[in-house]
Amino acid sequence: MNIACVSAHPDDIEILCAGTMIKYIRKGHKVTFIIATNGEVGSPTLPNREIAEIRHGEAKTAARIVGADLIWLGFPDEFLFECKETRLAFLNALRQADADVVFTHYYDYYNCDHNTVHKITNDVGIHLTIKNIPTKNPPIENNPYMYFMDTINGIGFEPEEYVDITDVMGQKKEALRAHESQYTWLKEFSKVDYIDMMETQAKFRGYQCGVKYAEAYKGVKAWPRGITKSLLPQYV
Ligand SMILES: [Zn+2]
Repeated sequence: MNIACVSAHPDDIEILCAGTMIKYIRKGHKVTFIIATNGEVGSPTLPNREIAEIRHGEAKTAARIVGADLIWLGFPDEFLFECKETRLAFLNALRQADADVVFTHYYDYYNCDHNTVHKITNDVGIHLTIKNIPTKNPPIENNPYMYFMDTINGIGFEPEEYVDITDVMGQKKEALRAHESQYTWLKEFSKVDYIDMMETQAKFRGYQCGVKYAEAYKGVKAWPRGITKSLLPQYV
C-alpha cells in the first residue's frame, strides 16, 4: 500500500506517528510525508527564510531516517488558510503519493495550522478520484481510508486503535532528534524536552494497550470511507 501522512509542521509526524510509519515501511509499504508549512516561525533568533531552510533540511534528514519520501508544500507557518490554492495543493500532493491510507491531524487543537490541515485533508479525501477537479497529478483510483493521529500530549483524544511501536522506538527517537533547531529552541525557551515529551506520551499510550510504547489513532467515520477492517500496520 501507499501511505501518506499530512502534517502542519516539519516535526509533527516524528512526534505523533513516525513509529507507525516505520512499521509500514518495514513491511514493504511505501510512505510519503506531506508537510504543509515551512516552519518559518520556529526560531527566536533566526530570520524566517533562514529557519525555514534549516527546517526543510531537518525534515529531509528525519524522512530519510524513517525511510519515507517527502513532499514540502512550503505554505507560511501559522498562516495556513483553507482556500482554493491550499486545497488544490493538498489534493495534488495526495495524488502524487497515490495514497491508499492517509494519516493527518485530529481537530480541536491548540494550533491553528493543525486544525486547518485536519480540515483540508479530510475535505479533499473524497476529491482524489474526481476527474473534473484537475491537478498536475492525475486522479487516483480509489478514495483512501483516513486515520487521525493523536494530539500533542494526548489532550482531548480518546484512542480507538493502537500500534505497538516498542521495537521501533529507537528509530523514531532518532528521527525526532533530527529536528535539532526545535529541540534546542523548545528546551531553552519553553523548558520542554520534546523527545522526553514524545516518549512519555508513547509510554502513556503503551500502558493503555499493554505494551511498552504505542501510538494512538481514530479512524474516519464519514461516508463513503467506512471499512470493515483495520489498515494499521499490524494487520496489513
Ligand atoms: Zn505542529
